[in-house]
Amino acid sequence: MTPSPLAPGDGPGIFPSMTVTPFFHQAPSRRGALGGGVAAAMLLGMTRRLFAADVDVLVVGAGAAGLAACRELASLGLSFRLVEARGRIGGRAYTDRSLGAAFDAGAEIVHFADRNPWTGIARELGTALEPAEARSGGWQVHVEGRPLGVQARGRRWQAFRAMEARLSEVEASGVDMSLAEAVADFDPDLRDIARSGLLLVLGEDGERISVLDNQRLWSGPDLTTRDGYGALVAAWGRGVPVSLGVEVTAVDWSGGGVVATTAGGGIRARAAILTVPVGVLRSGGIAFTPALPEDTRSAIEGIGMGALTKIALRLEGDRFGLADSTTLMDATRSEAMTMIEMYPDGKPLAVAICGGDFARGLAAQGEAAVVDHLTGQLAAILGAEARKRVAAGKLASWWSDPFSRGAYSVCRPGRIEAREALARPVGGRLWFAGEATGGGGAMTVGGATLAGIDAARDCARRLKA
Ligand SMILES: Cc1cc2nc3c(=O)[nH]c(=O)nc-3n(C[C@H](O)[C@H](O)[C@H](O)COP(=O)(O)OP(=O)(O)OC[C@H]3O[C@@H](n4cnc5c(N)ncnc54)[C@H](O)[C@@H]3O)c2cc1C
Repeated sequence: MTPSPLAPGDGPGIFPSMTVTPFFHQAPSRRGALGGGVAAAMLLGMTRRLFAADVDVLVVGAGAAGLAACRELASLGLSFRLVEARGRIGGRAYTDRSLGAAFDAGAEIVHFADRNPWTGIARELGTALEPAEARSGGWQVHVEGRPLGVQARGRRWQAFRAMEARLSEVEASGVDMSLAEAVADFDPDLRDIARSGLLLVLGEDGERISVLDNQRLWSGPDLTTRDGYGALVAAWGRGVPVSLGVEVTAVDWSGGGVVATTAGGGIRARAAILTVPVGVLRSGGIAFTPALPEDTRSAIEGIGMGALTKIALRLEGDRFGLADSTTLMDATRSEAMTMIEMYPDGKPLAVAICGGDFARGLAAQGEAAVVDHLTGQLAAILGAEARKRVAAGKLASWWSDPFSRGAYSVCRPGRIEAREALARPVGGRLWFAGEATGGGGAMTVGGATLAGIDAARDCARRLKA
């Protein structure tokens, strides 16, 4: 990659925000006097020349999308400044080592590997990928601590098959609805199971899932790496200059460029690519001046954030006779369905996933209570002895994380146009990019990466025009 002309960290490019006066602030009255496209183009050209930017493009957020955007901008010969609120890069792709054995607190699987850029990146970096199913040590489904009988397991499969058939019918009709609505006429027991069918995929409850958005998501081979997806993203991003611990709290795009506010001062750029999660935009974590256009605000409203949540336990001692990567499913309550992977790749861990309002409620209780809850679930399935085997625990609650405010984007029923609307540039100088604008690749690292590249190319085209 072409090195950025900017050095990592603060320095040139940061200066007190109070000194910043975008050009349009000085000449609002003249705009009314000018009419027609030619005049507007002249004015735009003039403001572009007069706006003194420190850098061509400010990129906000050093997750997969932001890193990919920066690499692309550099290869296209544009200067950039990448800022990241956290003290690390990778965003929601993060391999956590705090329990002494690594687990992916966020992204783990390289989805649709046949067209996912991370398949090639892993190869370049010498990271081995293998089919996700090859690592599975088998499945057990439990209700109230007891394994499900053959008949009950059959009923679950019947529910999931019926759900899939119904989703295909909705897709064929082209009329969007929520997952809950789509299965509303099922027998009550099948309906409850079907409503939870996407809970551990999207991290959201059936009422807030758009069927058409779900149906357009790309599928394909799922691969994983034993080293961690987060570690792979961090390794790829290592060469990209970034200012860590820099949170953007406001963006002024009223002038000929963009002025971002941070605690360390303002950053002036000709354009900005914002890769912060939709959850951050929805929460008002960044104030925009002027307010974003109705089209963009409506798009943000149309995309919610799921609450897929991971909880990891460090285990000690005897392994209950379980094979590496055995999956225990606690299906006692459909809305609280929890999948627990035991001893992933032989590591002394149990890593659980849950989602929706149940996960939101858990997250609100805090880490200690959540770890205790999961310990209780394990004890119900494996026996009271399990309590003694838990040495430590970790809650990865993206829902309560101020820099993500959710796991990933889920279109609201009837709002599948929102992803494309959010991806449309604002005022020729603001781009929103990330997993939420990833189209069929939405919700994934691969989709975020492609979206970051697309935004960088479009931005470069405009700036060079
Ligand atoms: C539990 C979980 C499991 C997942 N599993 C998978 C999986 O198996 N496979 C898969 O492909 N994907 C998975 N995902 C989704 C995947 O992690 C995301 O889609 C992807 O990482 C998003 O990348 P991004 O660049 O769009 O956003 P992010 O990675 O969130 O990057 C955005 C960055 O912006 C920063 N930021 C936020 N606000 C500000 C601010 N105001 N100023 C400066 N910086 C800011 C954030 O700190 C963050 O680093 C999972 C996610 C979760 C939470």
